[in-house]
Amino acid sequence: MKTGLIYSDDFLKHRQVEKHPECPERVKNTVEYFQRTNLLDLLDVRKPQKAQVEDLTRVHSIEHVNYIRCLSESGQGKFSVIDSDTYVCHETYETALYAAGATMMAGEMVWTGELDNCFSLVRPPGHHASTNQATGFCYFDNLSVMIRHLQAKHKVKKVFLFDWDAHAPNGTMGTFYADPSVLNVSIHQDPHSFFPGQGFIEQIGEKAGRGYTINFPVPAGTADPDYLYFIDEFIMSRVRKFKPDLIAVAAGQDSHQSDLVSQLNVTDAGFVEMTKRMMQLADELCGGKLVLSLEGGYNLNTFPITNYAIMSALAGLKYGTPIKGNVMQSTKDLLSKLNDTLKSSTIWSDAPQYGEVDAEIGKKICPIHKKTG
Ligand SMILES: [Zn+2]
Repeated sequence: MKTGLIYSDDFLKHRQVEKHPECPERVKNTVEYFQRTNLLDLLDVRKPQKAQVEDLTRVHSIEHVNYIRCLSESGQGKFSVIDSDTYVCHETYETALYAAGATMMAGEMVWTGELDNCFSLVRPPGHHASTNQATGFCYFDNLSVMIRHLQAKHKVKKVFLFDWDAHAPNGTMGTFYADPSVLNVSIHQDPHSFFPGQGFIEQIGEKAGRGYTINFPVPAGTADPDYLYFIDEFIMSRVRKFKPDLIAVAAGQDSHQSDLVSQLNVTDAGFVEMTKRMMQLADELCGGKLVLSLEGGYNLNTFPITNYAIMSALAGLKYGTPIKGNVMQSTKDLLSKLNDTLKSSTIWSDAPQYGEVDAEIGKKICPIHKKTG
């Protein structure tokens, strides 16, 4: 198996303010850990190119791209404030171009068969960045840029995008909200009292995209058996019906039990099992084509080890820790509620799916609901 890792020290240049959790050490420590454990020797490690402006504007407005560039150019030795979590320094724009370019490269190499699968170990992350807004440590939505690139240049039709980050991918959700070419599924901490205040069970997409956005807003304490229950009892069968050409994972490890920002309880074994399920689906449905792109994950002590577990699974190494615990009743109740909610969309009936009929890829970018908290 040929497993790729896209990484560059260019990802270390962008900085948030001091003591900010989204720091360069996240990826620096990870790569050093891969090196110490000799995992790096098993991987095809590539350096990314920067994304071009026209790559970004398939997802973001030119005004947004120029805004981030101008803030960076003016930030000689000082930070510009976008919101209370998100800052721009002199190197932010260039680093964000490398991050988007890296994930595009991962998608390109997997799609063309140069790699079997790939992990794009980037920062800054992307899934909170919407068409016109940087927020939640994100400036450009790396995976959305990759998907639009593959659709534009390689005529890729359908992508299954799975997000296991602790936070709902509000930026990504907005980009594909009316678009049936991307099945966008996310498991995240309940946004009623958690950033970004979006990703509710009722948000299932609109127009041609109705039913293609699926949110699992889970309570604090949700753990491995619950995540695997959602995947085994619901997600796998939906993905099989959707028949993607490629599978992408927004790999945010801030849902780990040791992480500082969420109250979720996923363990390394849970991440490995989720990775294996995605590999199984990719093998079954799209020639193994699987791309992971880094999102959150902030405990500097455990984060490299979790990334090691995921990367090892991706490279086909054995990871034998069993999953412990039982499925919570709240998990079963949530799935039942979600099934009821999706009955209002026709796409999960026996009607032809997107791609089975002569449909155009939805291009309209629709804003999602405003923040609710
Ligand atoms: Zn997150």
